[in-house]
Amino acid sequence: MSKDSRIPYNRPFIVGKELEYISQAVMEHGHISGNGPFTKKCQTWLEQNLGCPKALLTHSCTAALEMAAILCDIQPGDEVIMPSFTFVSTANAFVLRGGVPVFVDIRADTLNLDERLLESALTSKTRAVVPVHYAGIPCAIDEILEIAENNKLWVIEDAAQAYLSRYKGRSLGTLGHLGCLSFHETKNIISGEGGALLINDERLMERAEIIWEKGTDRSQFLRGEVDKYSWQDIGSSYLPSELVSAFLYAQLEKAAFIISKRSKVFFNYYEGLKDLQDKGCIRLPCLQEGTDGNGHIFFIVASKAEECRRLMQQLNDQNINVIPHYVPLHSSKAGIKYGRKLGNMNVTNDISQRLIRLPLFYGMEDNEVERVTQAIRKFFS
Ligand SMILES: *Cc1c(COP(=O)(O)O)cnc(C)c1O
Repeated sequence: MSKDSRIPYNRPFIVGKELEYISQAVMEHGHISGNGPFTKKCQTWLEQNLGCPKALLTHSCTAALEMAAILCDIQPGDEVIMPSFTFVSTANAFVLRGGVPVFVDIRADTLNLDERLLESALTSKTRAVVPVHYAGIPCAIDEILEIAENNKLWVIEDAAQAYLSRYKGRSLGTLGHLGCLSFHETKNIISGEGGALLINDERLMERAEIIWEKGTDRSQFLRGEVDKYSWQDIGSSYLPSELVSAFLYAQLEKAAFIISKRSKVFFNYYEGLKDLQDKGCIRLPCLQEGTDGNGHIFFIVASKAEECRRLMQQLNDQNINVIPHYVPLHSSKAGIKYGRKLGNMNVTNDISQRLIRLPLFYGMEDNEVERVTQAIRKFFS
C-alpha cells in the first residue's frame, strides 16, 4: 500500500453470509415483509446475548426512539432530559410528540450526561431522561436510575453506539426501562439502516408490539392468541423487512468477532498516543473501571479549538480522513426552537470544538493505525 493512500474514516464490513441469508428469506421462507423468521432470529439473538426480556427490530434507532416516546406517553409540554452532545434523533423523537427536550451539560471525563446536574433540571413536567452512551462509554447509569426512580421518570437509553458494551457485566441498553440500538452503516454491526428497541420493563411489552405493528394486535394474531387483528392504539410501521433482518442476522453472528477486531484498533491507538496524553497535548477516551467497551469511536480532544482545526486540516491533507462530531443540539436551529438548556453548557460547547474522531473500522491494518498516530505525534513534536 502506498504511504499516502487514503485512510477513510469508516469502511463498512461485510461478513460474507448476508446474501446467502437474504436468498434464504426469499427462496426458502418466501417471507420478505417484516416480522418473519429472520426478524425472530435476530430478536432472540439480542435477548439472549444482551440479557434483555424483549427486543423488537426497527428500521432505525430513530424509529426505536420514536416508539419509546409513544410508549412513555409523552404529551405536549412534557419535558425530557437529555444531553445536547448527541445526534438529532435523541431529541427529535420526543419533539414529534410535542415533548420539550431539556438539554443538560455533559461530564468532561466521559462526555456523557452529567448526572450531578440532573436534579436541578427537574420540574413538575419532567417525564423521562434519555442518557446517551457516547462512543459506547457508559453513562453514570446507576445514579441516573436512582434519581429517575425517586422522581418516577422513564429512563430511555440511547445505546445507538453501545451495542455489546458492558458496564459491571451488564449490557448497555438493558438497564433503563427502554434501550435503543442502531445498526446504521456507520455503527459497529450494520444492516444499512436498522435498529432495535429493547423493552426491559414488563409493563411496556404488550403495547410495544402493538405500536410496532401499525397500532394493531397483529403479533398476537400471528401467535394464534386472537382470531383476527384490528386497530388497537396509535402506532406506525416500525418493523424492518426480512431482507434487512436476514442481512443483520449474518452480522449478529459475527458481532463478538467484529467488536474484538475494532477494540484491538482502539487499544493500538491508545498505546500509540498515551504519552501525548501524559504530556498534556491531547486527551484520550476515558477507560472506566468495570467497563467493556465496544471499540466504536476513537476520539482525541485537543487543548484548544484552533489547534484542533489545524490538526484536522493537517491530517486530512495527508489523506487521513478525520472528522469532528456533533454540533450541540442546544445551539442548532431546531434545538433552539423546540428545546431549552439548563445553565451555560460550558463543557458541551467546549468539547464539541476540540474533539476529533480518528479512522476506525474492521480491517484497519496496524500500519494504518501507525500512520495516523505518527502523523499526530509529528504535529505535536
Ligand atoms: C446513530 C445514532 C442515532 C440514530 O441511529 P439511526 O439508526 O441512524 O436512526 C441516534 N442516536 C445516537 C447517539 C447515534 O449515534
